Amino acid sequence: MTVRTRIAPSPTGDPHVGTAYIALFNYCFAKSQGGEFLLRIEDTDQVRSTPESEQAILDSLRWLGLDWDEGPDVGGPHGPYRQSERSDIYQRYCDELIEKGHAFRCYRTPEELDELREARRAQGGFAALKPSELCLPDDEVATREAAGMPFVIRMYVPEGEGPCPVEDMLRGTIELDWGQVDAQVLLKSDGLPTYHLANVVDDHLMGITHVLRGEEWINSAPKHKLLYEYFGWDMPVLCHLPLLRNPDKSKLSKRKNPTSILYYKDMGYLPEGLLNYLGRMGWSMPDEREKFTLAEMIEHFDITRVSLGGPIFDVEKLDWLNGMWIRESLSHEELAKRLHDWAFNQEKLMALLPHAQTRMNKLTDFAPLMAFMAAGQLPLTAASFAEVKMDEDQLKAALQFALWRLEALRTWDRDSIFNELKTLAGQMDIKVKDFLAPMFIAIAGTTASFSVMDSMALLGPDMSRARIRHALNSVFGEIGKKQAKKLEKAYEALGKSAE
Ligand code: GLU
Repeated sequence: MTVRTRIAPSPTGDPHVGTAYIALFNYCFAKSQGGEFLLRIEDTDQVRSTPESEQAILDSLRWLGLDWDEGPDVGGPHGPYRQSERSDIYQRYCDELIEKGHAFRCYRTPEELDELREARRAQGGFAALKPSELCLPDDEVATREAAGMPFVIRMYVPEGEGPCPVEDMLRGTIELDWGQVDAQVLLKSDGLPTYHLANVVDDHLMGITHVLRGEEWINSAPKHKLLYEYFGWDMPVLCHLPLLRNPDKSKLSKRKNPTSILYYKDMGYLPEGLLNYLGRMGWSMPDEREKFTLAEMIEHFDITRVSLGGPIFDVEKLDWLNGMWIRESLSHEELAKRLHDWAFNQEKLMALLPHAQTRMNKLTDFAPLMAFMAAGQLPLTAASFAEVKMDEDQLKAALQFALWRLEALRTWDRDSIFNELKTLAGQMDIKVKDFLAPMFIAIAGTTASFSVMDSMALLGPDMSRARIRHALNSVFGEIGKKQAKKLEKAYEALGKSAE
């Protein structure tokens, strides 16, 4: 049997270091056994999925050197590898489940579902809704069908409670309870599948033998196990890897650490350094050496060496390891090439010069003008914002709200950024010029640079957002939960007043 693993990202945001981590372990597991590694795009969430996000995921995994044998861009015998192009397949398999009596049409309205959930909550115990509660009498089904009411397809699951053991390569037998397993929606009212149906059908049809994924999916395993049984298919071996954590042990999130792979690329980490660091997340070489290549990791890979304690993603340690790669493993020629590819190339200079040239008298004026472009995080303190015409609370809100708006912005160009910030300034009742001043400082360290919008467009979304986040942290320290809630409320209120 050929080992086949996959990474199955949903293209709904920035390419996450957690995705690279799971991809790396799937890659090493397959390659260490002469197997194959696939990439499948799980874009069943049509509202949140974007082609830009998909492209960024492909680009960043490829930058890391995790090449896939089959995938949406390289093709393969089991395609298409994008779930949005496989709707008819899911529909067919869903019909099969209905015919076999393993799934049913559910005409419950959102209001009825709320009532059922409410009743469940009042009873205490598990909240999962079971088929017996969801099914309507035959005549009611007929009435709703005749009225053309929308319906979803749900799977039958065992009623009541009872042990549901799930086997895991790392964890042995995980004891879950059927009580927590609801009659999962398989096909939504628009005829598109949910993650659970699409994931199981695709893993089977694509010949996946081992599923290595994040531990947040453990609770989905009973549903998947049941679906494999209903279809009469062998289930792939499951392996739930630990989640990456911030140094304070909380789940890795962009509020505390940048999480986009592209940020680490822009910051000038080497792909070898980042991969090496991810390889040390819960795993170690048999001889405990800290610096190793991807080929060495594959050569010595043993999944049982993964430890389950949440591995800490610590940027300072990454800096240290990446430094070793830069100092010890690159020749001068190679380092020159890396610097060239990273920032000092014709393309990057041509993008920069239209803004710099008009401000230059001598060639020596150029380096100071572009220094902020090639820098990492800027040395900011409260004093950096002394000239800004806002009080502390306003400044905090302006930076935080701008960050949230820019995180949601899909098209990253000068005009879109400007429109977003101008609208926000209006909603906050601050003059555009005053509003942009602190953005300037966060992005360029000074207001004496070329336009902040141009700077952001050139820096790209990942570095721009990271700089605003860094400005917030530098001036206000870490924002506590209570404060964050207050800001979120004020932010939501802004949106409403604009509608
Ligand atoms: N699309 C899921 C994700 O985004 C895949 C989970 C799995 O590997 O089954 O993580």
